[in-house]
This record gives sequence, C-alpha cells and structure tokens, in this order.
Amino acid sequence: MNDKNLSAHSNQAVWHPCTQMKHHETFPPLSIVKGTGAWLYDESGKRYLDTISSWWVNLFGHCNPRINAALIDQLGKLEHVMLAGFTHEPVVRLSEKLCAISPEPLGHCFYASDGASATEIALKMSFHYWQQSGHPAKTVFINLQNGYHGETLGALSVTDVALFKQTYAPLLRPSPSMPTPDWRFARDGESPEACALRAAAELENYLAQHHATIAALILEPLVQGAAGMGMYHPSYLKRARAICDAYQVHLIADEIAVGFGRTGTLFACEQAEISPDFLCLSKGLSGGYLPLSVVMTTDDIYQAFYSSQTSQAFLHSHSHSGNALACRAALATLEILEQDNVIAGNRHKASYLNQCLQPVQAHPRVENFRNCGMIWAFEVSDPAPGFTLKFAHMGLDQQLLIRPLGNTVYLMPPYVINEEEMHLMAQGVLHILNHI
Ligand SMILES: *Cc1c(COP(=O)(O)O)cnc(C)c1O
Repeated sequence: MNDKNLSAHSNQAVWHPCTQMKHHETFPPLSIVKGTGAWLYDESGKRYLDTISSWWVNLFGHCNPRINAALIDQLGKLEHVMLAGFTHEPVVRLSEKLCAISPEPLGHCFYASDGASATEIALKMSFHYWQQSGHPAKTVFINLQNGYHGETLGALSVTDVALFKQTYAPLLRPSPSMPTPDWRFARDGESPEACALRAAAELENYLAQHHATIAALILEPLVQGAAGMGMYHPSYLKRARAICDAYQVHLIADEIAVGFGRTGTLFACEQAEISPDFLCLSKGLSGGYLPLSVVMTTDDIYQAFYSSQTSQAFLHSHSHSGNALACRAALATLEILEQDNVIAGNRHKASYLNQCLQPVQAHPRVENFRNCGMIWAFEVSDPAPGFTLKFAHMGLDQQLLIRPLGNTVYLMPPYVINEEEMHLMAQGVLHILNHI
C-alpha cells in the first residue's frame, strides 16, 4: 500500500463530526501534527492561527506548558477512578474552586464528559426535582429560538437549529421555543435593550398561561453561539430570572460556550447580576485539553434528592465522571485565569482587535458587526453558493483556521493571542472579504 492509499484508507476509517464525508474527495481534512500557543502545524510544516479556539474549547493555547506540567504530575499519581463510592483530590479541589468562583448560591457540582451530557443532566435533575417536590405536572422544557444545547436526543429537543434538528424531529420531545432577544431581530428604531425586553414580555405571557406544566427554561446567556453568534442585552436575563421565579420555573444557564471569560466576565450571568438554578459548563473548563463538563446547582435542588430512599437519588452516571486528569487540567486552567489576571488583560486585547477590525467593520459586504468580550461576529451579504466552505479554505491560504457558520463569520481566539497575531487575523479576514 503506498502512502496515498494509506491516507485515503484512514480518511474512510474516521467518520468526522458535522461533515459531509464526500466533501473530503475535494477537500481532505488537514492533518495536524503539533500545536503551540494560538498556532497549529500540519504535516508539511504549514501553520494556521486557531481563530476559533478549536471549536471554542481552547483558552490558553495548544500545548500550554503550565497545563502540560499539571497533567504530567497527575499522570504520575492517578489517571482515573470511578466517582461512585470513591473520590480524589483533583475533583474535590475543582468542585470547591468552582463553587467559590461561580454566582452564589451554586454549591454542588455534578460531572460528565461533554456539553450535551451536561444539558441532559440539568434537564433530568429539573424534571426529577419537580417530581419529588409536589409538582409532577412540570414535565416540559422551554428554550429560546435559535438556541443550541447539544445534539444528543434530550439536548436536541431543546435546541432550535433546523440544520441539526429537522431530520430527527420524530425522535424528539416537543419543546416550545420562546422569541429570541438577539438584537439582529430588533424592529426599526428599537434598541438592543428594548428588543430584549420585548422578548422577555413574550416569555412572561407564555409562562403566565403554561407555567403549571413547565419545568425549566434553558438558554445561552448573552451569546447564542451555534446558531450564528447572536448577541443580546443582559436585561433579558434579569427579566427571565424574575419571571422564572414568579412562575416556579427553573432557569438553566448553558454557559458551555460562554463560561470562563468569553463574554468579558468570568460567567456571562454576572453581567445581569443573576444566578441560575443550574449552570452548565464544559468547553473551556479544561482549557480545551480533555473532555469534561459539570452541572452546578443550588442547595434547594441538592436537598430535594437527599434522602434515605435510593430511588430519590439522582441515579445518573457516566463512566468518566470527574476524571482525575480532566479535573487537574481544569484546576490548572482556573489557576492561569486567576494568576494572570486574564479577564482584565482580555479587555486590552479586545480593544486592540476592535481597532484592527475597523476596515472589516466598514467593509461594504459586512453587516451586523458585533463584539462581546472575546467573541466577534458579522454577516457577509450576498454569499455565493458554497460560501462557507470557500471562506474556510481561503482562510487556510491566509494562515487562518476559520470556519463561518453559514454566512456568519466569527472570531473566538484563544486568550493567549498577541497583538501581532491579532493584526494578522484582521488582515487575513479583510483579504478574504475582498476576494470571495
Ligand atoms: C458546544 C455546546 C454544547 C454541546 O457541547 P458538546 O461538548 O459539543 O456536546 C451545548 N451548549 C452550548 C451552548 C454549546 O456551545
């Protein structure tokens, strides 16, 4: 077998996520052999700036020396032990740390390995809580239009992205979508805040009628990621919290993408000064190193499961719950966030990148240019067929790993990106806009 056969064979053996495999006939996947900082290197030695943090997970660069050192130390001690009946230092330290830094009163951490599983856990816990608290009719979850919460069946039920959902509709539980507060849908002359408050008023009307059967509202605070980086005013979250309280409905904040500083504060909910009943975290939690997710919840919910009856416990499990290596990577990540005063530093980086992006913002084909913390996005008008793939491939020629969502181009770089790299990223995007 020659090399070409070998690579064709291996391409068929790996079935890639979110990919029409036939496209690999024209554009085979890039084989990455190493990474340092914000850069990834392919087999031929070409390098690419990771402008989307490898699907939004990487915070402090690839092969970060401090996270590597923590993992090497942990490898010499314990890689994993089951978390039922056993515990270990990394999971205890991580849980205490998360409880200390998250909005009060979230004092309990339940672990899984990926974001979709965190969504499943929050939904099941909410439902089970109401079963055990005298409200067995509360069995319906509501979400926001254009919301994304993962792609397992339960998570997909509360997701509102047709591309991922439509095919599987017959398998899913009906889950009503409330109007989105995304300011791109503002009416003429309406401010982002007025748009958010109008959406909140519609949420209130809905709950006033249906609260008796609603267990929880799940949403992505401030930025609706997968549906195209839709951004909205924090007033929506403030109102949603108050409305959920008034109607005895749980609020599930899915900060899987926006947690750990992405929106400019450690957690997006902080910008509305609210605390959810469930907080889902994953992606950046382990610095993008290892699969890890957590659902944090309140004493009230924890106590509803605390009983001498086994059946009243939350009997949900994942084999790798609280994996020691993943927890250790998360501890190292949180240490960097804190010790290096990253969130304040990101403010300077964001203002620098906004300057670099001025010609992009002013480009005649750019619409709805927006920025929230370390997330930038805009729509490109009049996209030709095949725009999304073409943009990504032109990006590679500009040394950029960039993957638009439809005609939405976004940047979500690792926090270690420096000024020179930000300049290169902005120049590359402008070049593509001028030639696509
Ligand atoms: C990525 C994402 C998920 C799903 O996480 P996976 O680890 O991909 O299952 C859920 N919610 C939001 C907001 C996300 O961005």
